Amino acid sequence: MRNEHVVGILLCAGSSQRMGFDKLQRPIAGKSAIERSMNALIEGGITKLLFVVSESTDRFVRALNCPIPNDIVPGGATRSDSVRNALLSSEGDIAVIHDAARCLVSPDLVRVCIQSAKQYGSGIAAVPLTDTVYRTTDSCISPVSRDGLMRMQTPQAFHYASIRDAYVGHTEAATDDCALFMLAGNVPHFVPGSEDNFKLTFPDDFTRAERRLLLYGIGFDTHRLVENRKLILGGVEIPYEKGLLGHSDADVLAHAVMDALLSAGGLPDIGHLFPDTDPEYEGADSVQLLRQVVALLAAKKLYPRQISATIIAQKPKMAPYLSEMSRRLAEAAGISPTCVTLGATTTEGMNDEGRGLCISVQAIASLC
Ligand code: MG
Repeated sequence: MRNEHVVGILLCAGSSQRMGFDKLQRPIAGKSAIERSMNALIEGGITKLLFVVSESTDRFVRALNCPIPNDIVPGGATRSDSVRNALLSSEGDIAVIHDAARCLVSPDLVRVCIQSAKQYGSGIAAVPLTDTVYRTTDSCISPVSRDGLMRMQTPQAFHYASIRDAYVGHTEAATDDCALFMLAGNVPHFVPGSEDNFKLTFPDDFTRAERRLLLYGIGFDTHRLVENRKLILGGVEIPYEKGLLGHSDADVLAHAVMDALLSAGGLPDIGHLFPDTDPEYEGADSVQLLRQVVALLAAKKLYPRQISATIIAQKPKMAPYLSEMSRRLAEAAGISPTCVTLGATTTEGMNDEGRGLCISVQAIASLC
């Protein structure tokens, strides 16, 4: 049996009027909504991809590295016009229509929709309504029974010829494909969608998607306490009889924070980036190195969101300096000082920190 042609139609033509910025192109944890939706469709089993673009998304889509055969189709005045343009520009066995703004769609859901379309002629992601619904008009407010009510999502997958014929035969405005499929006399087959498969519509949705996609990393560092060295933590010089030994300024807090950020971003640790055998880093200001780390992450479209660290030291008392350390680290990381939470603890005289031999730091960071 020959392989079936499963054509993905990715709708990237909508405007972002309710967002105030282009929701489809702005990176979320390093990747735009368009890239995330594209990847899910490909992993879910499509064999060709049609990008339906607007003037503003055209250039962005052309610069993408799509690993399967693909084409770019101009969007129309309405969603229906856009889908019709795409269906008429190609052919295949199955069409999988998806709104790029549903960028948390899972490859599994795409796969289930395709399988359902092969078996039953259609596979439409839908979720039952769980909220109570009221109809409100100028003259009347009344509750509506939610029994049997479903919210339609995408992907919506169909036998290619049947959805193309439905779009050719019906020019009525519709906000989804299933409506026209039914107008053409077909009976739809639903598959369970997902609450995670929501559509980026309002600015809060973008924040919700970011939260789902945050990347986390941890960092740990320790330096010996010795005489005749400055004690610098988080870029702040702390008056004390000893300081930390190291090739750079030995800012153990900045080091642990850098390693947490790098680990969240999937990059090598600071030992690789700033080797202590390189004379360039002798006496280096570690907060400046933190700026370099943030720039490396920005090149991957990743941005710090939250940093938290615990300084483990018997002496000196850290409390008077913590807010200034937060301020300096936050400034270098490009975030608000309220997003840098620092604490300090002793080890009650135990361990090397407790005996005053060293200071250690544990850090955790998130990126988006
Ligand atoms: Mg270090």
